[in-house]
Amino acid sequence: MPLTNMQVRDLENVVHPYTPLHKIRQTGPMMLDSGKGIFVRDDQGKEYIEAMSGLWCTGLGWGDEELIEAGIEQLRKLAYYHNFAGKGTEPQVALAEKLKEVAPVPISKVFFTSSGSEANDTQIKLVWYYNNAIGRPKKKKIISRMKAYHGVTIASASLTGLPYNHIDWDLPLDFVKHTTCPHFYRFGEPGETEEDFVARLVRDLEELIAREGPDTVAAFIAEPIMGAGGVLVPPETYFPAIQQVLDRHDILLIDDEVINGFCRTGNWWGAQTMNMKPHTISSAKQLTSAYAPLGAVMIPDFMYEAMEQASAKIGLFGHGFTYGGHPLGAAIGAKTLEIYQKRNILDHVRGVTPTFLKRLHALADHPLVGEARGRGLLGAAELVADKTTRRPFDPKAGVGAQCAKFMEKHGLIVRAIGESIALCPPMIITEDEVGELFDRYERALDETE
Ligand code: PLP
Repeated sequence: MPLTNMQVRDLENVVHPYTPLHKIRQTGPMMLDSGKGIFVRDDQGKEYIEAMSGLWCTGLGWGDEELIEAGIEQLRKLAYYHNFAGKGTEPQVALAEKLKEVAPVPISKVFFTSSGSEANDTQIKLVWYYNNAIGRPKKKKIISRMKAYHGVTIASASLTGLPYNHIDWDLPLDFVKHTTCPHFYRFGEPGETEEDFVARLVRDLEELIAREGPDTVAAFIAEPIMGAGGVLVPPETYFPAIQQVLDRHDILLIDDEVINGFCRTGNWWGAQTMNMKPHTISSAKQLTSAYAPLGAVMIPDFMYEAMEQASAKIGLFGHGFTYGGHPLGAAIGAKTLEIYQKRNILDHVRGVTPTFLKRLHALADHPLVGEARGRGLLGAAELVADKTTRRPFDPKAGVGAQCAKFMEKHGLIVRAIGESIALCPPMIITEDEVGELFDRYERALDETE
């Protein structure tokens, strides 16, 4: 198909993240134009079920009038103010109070950013600041996992455990150490049970900490369910077992809830679904249902106290972003959390989850699907070249990308993460819409080879 005028203009002017830049000149970008509920339309008028909530973020779908109104009202009242040098705005207070109310562990204060990457960057800085304040200047290394996704700034991309975020970017920086990914289907060894697998991962972690020196390891960062690594669900016993090791060595657990948070996995937080007891929490994305950019770091008492002491020593707390806690994002965030509660979004997610997971798990019967996995309204099917041996497709063959293209043809937007085809639909999706989503998904799978 010849490119449209808009596609040509886009290609002449815009850089597309996470896109094969060497190919996009031939295919052209998909230009999105409008959205309502779980549907979006491209600029040619074709409608799609948006089964990824954009980038795992528009939990309340498109065109929610209450959110739009909350944003407009705030822009009219006070379009911008920062919170540097002791200033503040009411929407930030309201949102911080709400976050503390729903947090999975006791929280003292909330530090606002404008994105998930900035939240995780801030986490690292706060852990360093904290350890300096309490007299442990050597305790600075951060352990992350292979296949983790924590963002793209220099520090958060270092935490990320994916090759395309490191190769040719001169990353990861040396303070990050990656340990084994807890995806049993892919990384379990022949004959190993899930229990053996968890025991091996615990040993791997112990060995890593011993090698680095426990007094140099400050924190372990983890998404409860890994999202952008391919929707990788760890064994139920994984986090309790890992956490025992961390506690023994006085290593903080940073919970990255940027995708998992806000009802997505069938609880308010992924930490609850996956039995994590974090010390600090990062969130973004569904925090505002993506109607405005915002991120948040939720900080416990003992850290905040140390931050106060450090600030007294130096003269101020030297960290903050111009747009951190922007009033637009904060007002929309406070309204988003209010809507999650008053519209019982958690109950709704729990109501449609059995249908979603039944259809998801049924995909495992397809000859191309090696594993279908998920929790709540978050899932993926992993395509393999050989189901019996779990042999993956050659990544260069681009089977996952081809399958995602077929899905687009059938009016379904998904995300191909290698050969794992991910789903994360807006949480307002109905049972009938779940059915239609999987009908389209299956049609495209049948066309894939
Ligand atoms: N953490 C997780 C778990 C994510 O999935 C993402 C983005 O996908 C980030 C952090 C980074 O967030 P942002 O893209 O807002 O910087």
